[in-house]
Amino acid sequence: MIDPARPRDLPPTDGAGGSVATLAPMDVAGRADRVRASMAEAGCDGLVVTNLTNVRYLCGFTGSAGLAWLGPEELVLITDRRYTDQSEAETAGAGVDVRIEITNELPKDLLVAASAGVGRIGLEAASVSWADQRRYADWFEAAELVATVGVVEGCRQVKDEGEIARMAAAAAIADATLGEVAPMLADGPTEKEVALALDSALRRRGADGSAFATIVASGPNAALPHKRPSARLVGPGELVIVDMGAVVDGYRSDMTRTLAVGEPDPEARRVFDTVRDAQRLGVEQVAAGRAIAEVDKACRDRIDADGWADAFVHGTGHGVGLDIHEQPWVRATATETLEVGHVITVEPGVYLPGLCGARVEDTVVVTPTGPRPLTTTPKELELPCG
Ligand code: ZN
Ligand code: ZN
Repeated sequence: MIDPARPRDLPPTDGAGGSVATLAPMDVAGRADRVRASMAEAGCDGLVVTNLTNVRYLCGFTGSAGLAWLGPEELVLITDRRYTDQSEAETAGAGVDVRIEITNELPKDLLVAASAGVGRIGLEAASVSWADQRRYADWFEAAELVATVGVVEGCRQVKDEGEIARMAAAAAIADATLGEVAPMLADGPTEKEVALALDSALRRRGADGSAFATIVASGPNAALPHKRPSARLVGPGELVIVDMGAVVDGYRSDMTRTLAVGEPDPEARRVFDTVRDAQRLGVEQVAAGRAIAEVDKACRDRIDADGWADAFVHGTGHGVGLDIHEQPWVRATATETLEVGHVITVEPGVYLPGLCGARVEDTVVVTPTGPRPLTTTPKELELPCG
């Protein structure tokens, strides 16, 4: 039953009661030229964009099928008849100069016509199947096909003010959601019940959805870094890893807190204290011009010092944006340096198989004056309260 007194088309909120329309605008129109500059470095003059997140980045289209052609002069979006109205509305809303073509057939003729005269055509190697590659080789027989990696993704690393505003809104929703839901841990729920409550509250608070499959892992399950929520009951004194995020206008947040109902045993407490300290030291390394590997090293050295080097079984973090995991990767082998506008996670963890685990994670923006964490829930074992 719909309440007739309820206004239609409630605006999406930014977690503070506002609307996405009130957030800083994004410069979507400027992206094509930045990608063109990267295309030149990658050795191609036109790019067939098949990764749908990259399509969205270039023109604002959010449909589940389609591709884009980015040529020297023109951006073309090709999608099917399900998206006739949506593609026009979304690209106009993004303020992008794009030619839209609608077809329910293979886009051979459209792509061949759009790319006429272009000698080197890039394909996105990470999103083109072997079968697709053979088909494109047939379609573009007059051109040289170039396998490219990360051309658009590289441009996506540095976020503008509007992108950061959306991620901040997502993080604010996640903070409020965890504060609302965490007290239920005291009732001894299943992990699945907690995850469901988090996912539901994220949407109720204005998120478009969860940023990824929410993780709630308690007791020995917390020793498995990416454990799916199970029917296990959360017990007193156990460490509980909650890893969650929200999506606002396509942009994601990512936060992990380790919680406990009551005081855990001394070993588990020591694991948590070490991880929290390591995470703080990692965030302190976040600065423009700093080698990304230094962030990883700061976390890893602190965990090594307590004898748990082998129990930190993953990289320290990753970029976040339209995808939950994107460039740059925060790990020991990283060779890049941080830039203003990068948004990364810092998320060390220690996992003791069969016993317990802890992870603490923030989403952090690199600003000219240092790190700006978007996720702000206190890093305490005690349950936050909404
Ligand atoms: Zn996470
Ligand atoms: Zn993460």
